[in-house]
Amino acid sequence: MTVAMDRPLFTADHDTFRQTFRQFIDREIRPHQERWRGQGQVDREIWRKAGSQGFLCPWMDEKYGGAGGEFLHSVIVMEELARAYESGFAMSLHSDIVVPYLYSFGTEEQKQRWLPGCTSGELVTALGMTEPGTGSDLAALTTTAVRDGDDYVINGQKTFISNGQLCDIAVIAAKTDPDPANSHKGISMFVVEAGRVPAANLLGPEGGGFMMMMQKLQQERLCVAIGAVAGAEQVLDDTIVYTKERKAFGKPISKFQNTQFKLVECLAKVEVGRAYVDKVIAGHIAGKYLVKECSIAKFWTTDMGQEVVDNCLQFFGGYGYMLEYPVTRAFMDARVQRIYAGTNEIMKVIVAKQLGL
Ligand SMILES: Cc1cc2nc3c(=O)[nH]c(=O)nc-3n(C[C@H](O)[C@H](O)[C@H](O)COP(=O)(O)OP(=O)(O)OC[C@H]3O[C@@H](n4cnc5c(N)ncnc54)[C@H](O)[C@@H]3O)c2cc1C
Repeated sequence: MTVAMDRPLFTADHDTFRQTFRQFIDREIRPHQERWRGQGQVDREIWRKAGSQGFLCPWMDEKYGGAGGEFLHSVIVMEELARAYESGFAMSLHSDIVVPYLYSFGTEEQKQRWLPGCTSGELVTALGMTEPGTGSDLAALTTTAVRDGDDYVINGQKTFISNGQLCDIAVIAAKTDPDPANSHKGISMFVVEAGRVPAANLLGPEGGGFMMMMQKLQQERLCVAIGAVAGAEQVLDDTIVYTKERKAFGKPISKFQNTQFKLVECLAKVEVGRAYVDKVIAGHIAGKYLVKECSIAKFWTTDMGQEVVDNCLQFFGGYGYMLEYPVTRAFMDARVQRIYAGTNEIMKVIVAKQLGL
């Protein structure tokens, strides 16, 4: 890597895991990326391949079919996917955002039922919080879950659900108490397979959904920040190579002082972002309560990533507008990172609350 930093978080074992996952990307992902983009989704088979080689939920206990790794293995998977410009294969959403709900809040029976499949790739997961009428204001969601004997009947609409088109199970937030006075305590989480939802698929306590989402959103936001820094780093690397090759006025465009200054500014931002995110990762692994830090990491790194990609894209001239170029797609991917997992404005709302404002 042109801009690689020394990162004390990782051991030699992690580096080996990174190399193995890079080989998996070269062999199983890169040859298919263009086709996947054309068909609007990855092949179902890639999930099983990733699972069989230990790349799904790499932190999972062995008793649930996992490799017994840790969150740092997931960090490596996120970073390497971002470096491969692969935004459609939502491994991290599955491994580090949805499955942790099952792992943390599931009963032993539920865990035995779902976790081995999530780890092997037999079960692909999705998380349904957002609705057409509400995204940021989760307490205002209107999907209802009404108890009917041994089942719950869930009614409502969800939108923008990543993996929604190919998932086997979805963790869904729904109101079990529609009384607006109980908006926070009225939300529950369900694991939806197909058709009616047996009461046994209630995840955690009835009415505990809002608390569960708030707890798990910390890691979700950190995951976005990890991807944002790695994505910006890769675009910068590729731009450095491009500016050395592309000539104008008889010399490589890397020789213009404007190019050098802009690329150095980008490098500084990526390295500062990386240092902060690595610090938050270390605290998160240590079990610290880092709602403020994860929110800051999410909005700062995604704003930074957008700025870096925008500055880099400029050096590609007209090619930077062509979708065939990775930098152009990286621009779109960077843009949405400022929106999902809680918009950057909502991140600031959260931090302002933490400051008692
Ligand atoms: C590619 C993609 C993947 C997604 N994946 C998932 C998924 O898997 N599961 C899921 O549940 N959702 C998913 N989402 C939804 C995403 O989380 C929401 O789009 C996001 O939370 C914003 O909600 P909204 O679109 O309803 O915008 P709104 O909530 O309508 O917000 C509109 C604007 O108002 C601003 N705003 C709202 N409230 C405030 C406030 N209090 N203060 C200041 N500004 C405010 C927002 O910041 C935003 O700029 C995904 C979205 C995208 C685009």
